Amino acid sequence: MREQYADIIVDISQEKLDKPFQYRVPLALRDRLEPGMCVEIPFGNGNRRIKGYVLEVGETCKFDPVRTKELFGIAQKDADVTDRMVALAAWIRQNYGSTMIQALKTVLPARKTVKKQERRFVEVLMNREELRSLLGDCLRKKQHAKARLLEALLQQWEDGAGAIPYQWITGKLNVASGTVNSLVREGAVRIVSTEQFRNPVRLAEEAEGGKRLLSPDQRHIVDSVLEDFDKGQPGTYLIHGITGSGKTEVYMELVAEVLKRGRQAIVLIPEIALTYQTLLRFYRRFGDRVSVMNSTLSAGEKYDQCERAKRGEIDVIIGPRSALFTPFPNIGLIVIDEEHESSYKSESTPKYHARETAMEVARLHGAGVVLGSATPSLESFYRAVRGEYRLFTLRERLTGGRLPTVYTVDLREELKSGNRSIFSLKLQELLADRRDKGQQSMLFLNRRGYAGFVSCRACGEVMKCPHCDVSLSEHRDGRLVCHYCGYSQPKPGLCPKCGSRYLLGFRAGTQQIEEKLQELMPGVRTLRMDGDTTRTKDSYERILSAFANEEADVLIGTQMIVKGHDFPKVTLVGILAADLSLSAADYRAGERTFQLLTQAVGRAGRGAFAGEAVIQTYQPEHYAVTRAAAQDYEGFYQEEILYREMGGYPPVAHMLAVQIFAGEEKAGAELAARLADAVRRAGTAVLGPAAASIGRINDVYRFVFYVKNDDYGRLVQVKDLLEELLIQWKNTTVQVQFDFDPVNCL
Ligand code: ADP
Ligand code: ZN
Ligand code: ZN
Repeated sequence: MREQYADIIVDISQEKLDKPFQYRVPLALRDRLEPGMCVEIPFGNGNRRIKGYVLEVGETCKFDPVRTKELFGIAQKDADVTDRMVALAAWIRQNYGSTMIQALKTVLPARKTVKKQERRFVEVLMNREELRSLLGDCLRKKQHAKARLLEALLQQWEDGAGAIPYQWITGKLNVASGTVNSLVREGAVRIVSTEQFRNPVRLAEEAEGGKRLLSPDQRHIVDSVLEDFDKGQPGTYLIHGITGSGKTEVYMELVAEVLKRGRQAIVLIPEIALTYQTLLRFYRRFGDRVSVMNSTLSAGEKYDQCERAKRGEIDVIIGPRSALFTPFPNIGLIVIDEEHESSYKSESTPKYHARETAMEVARLHGAGVVLGSATPSLESFYRAVRGEYRLFTLRERLTGGRLPTVYTVDLREELKSGNRSIFSLKLQELLADRRDKGQQSMLFLNRRGYAGFVSCRACGEVMKCPHCDVSLSEHRDGRLVCHYCGYSQPKPGLCPKCGSRYLLGFRAGTQQIEEKLQELMPGVRTLRMDGDTTRTKDSYERILSAFANEEADVLIGTQMIVKGHDFPKVTLVGILAADLSLSAADYRAGERTFQLLTQAVGRAGRGAFAGEAVIQTYQPEHYAVTRAAAQDYEGFYQEEILYREMGGYPPVAHMLAVQIFAGEEKAGAELAARLADAVRRAGTAVLGPAAASIGRINDVYRFVFYVKNDDYGRLVQVKDLLEELLIQWKNTTVQVQFDFDPVNCL
């Protein structure tokens, strides 16, 4: 029988020991040790008996077999929460590339003392009829903000919730505190405060609140998932269904069933979709057992929540990516809503993906994973098609509202027919129609601000940021601004290179659209939302709420306007230059374009009136455009997966981006070349290295090379090799990061 060796990380409270030690596995434990198990080992010169965690078991001895010690055995107590978190950290470290400490810091909450924060809630004092009549008054007087608050209060009154957090009112609902005060004066509500952090719900007595009779399609999903679960074979499931098709209802039913079985559930939602309405549905159903994690929580509060989860005081958590690391003792279900969202991939090391990491958490606990999306990621749909995930489809919108009629306009034809406006004739016609009817429109531009550059028409010189390798953009106040680092300078009157006066902006930003729209329809009320208008805190919510209040006829914006918000009065969506994102130089450009277009088109006609959408494009024949216009996900998938197959791109193959960040250009280029060479010599093909598409940001030079392989394990080996070389070469000046199956290119 072959010897076995285990890589073991020593108790994490000793942070300096950030590397595994290898031990021989005793005969009695052969084939019984698994990653994450807690074992006892002889440590140091005195062979002190201490605890450690198994990272990996293999048959090769990395050191001298004679001098390798044998571990004592499995530590007595059962694997507890911390053990599992350590195992998870080890897995993240191994599969995404980071130090063990970085990985542990990702999965374990910072140990901070909780400062008990005072929180305020708004409690209703009136009954339903009184609230209704007050609401009627407000609507008559066109007091929109007050009406919105009353609607929310009525809604939660019906939902049985006791109080609305003050923060929600001034934040997500965007109602000023003066408005709340006027309701206080009228005796409709009062403001209460609690010192403890508790859920603002009084509903615990009615735990089954808010339960609905599921449709047959919904029932089928729930039953299938539970059947596997009860057989002890929970799997991974993908629910493909448009917004409003009842996915959330399915999640809640599954969560309820899992809780009945004494297990806990994690529900991941992109931060932007964490709306009060969604949370209220969960509160209504699960009362005090559910807790929310979002970016407004302090580190102390997060720690507090984790402690409550460990103690079993809560058993459902809702939150973004990091909620995945809630230390529940016995997770039964992980839900990932909007699973295609790129925010599920961490942007800092370790650059883990919440979807794959959820699978590992599920494996450690014996839990099921349910993914949901209207436009599934290629990754998930590919695995579903191959039978690794079970696929369910929900086709009907339960909220009413039909899919909009879509017109695709070829901008080349438009120019030929003499229309030089940025609005096609069709869009002009429909915009005027909406204005006449008093309905709202949205104009979506696939880029931000005056993203266009300023160049000299005489010599071609482009105005660039002196710190970043990108062109400066012209703003209305005449300044030139860098969108990466914020550098700005006045626009020079003459070309700094040749002295010509013809220094002109390439004008195609949201500001220009706003100006042109004003010219086209004098008096039209517009709101603009892009990276510049939303820089200050709360401005994002302020603009959205102004639009919801019908303070404008048209909302003009970049991608942030197409996500997560419902405006029932919007019946027209215009997509200007749909294909700008297609020219981005990375393999996800088609997927991202399809998702954005599908979402944007879906914004129209959510309410009582039918919607229309106009897609303006230079590539009307591109499948990302035609399939989005037809709201045909599967058709899109068929074409896109062919492209991925031919290019050897994920999800068909895997790709590792090795990213190099250096203060000195030469040092960065040299290290990149040496690392790439080492990979080649180890027999794996490399693309690059090259300067990143943005070669410099804030005076840090950026290089990147890519390694593609069918086998993810091979890429992990490449990462291990490079990590080892970096230690050998004692590299400290240049930073190297790994990004597996990158979502965003450098
Ligand atoms: P999704 O998560 O796919 O957007 P939801 O679960 O939010 O869909 O459902 C959309 C709307 O339909 C919600 O208002 C929800 O309350 C309602 N709904 C969902 N399932 C049912 C059902 N079985 N019966 C009645 N209404 C339902
Ligand atoms: Zn010039
Ligand atoms: Zn810059």
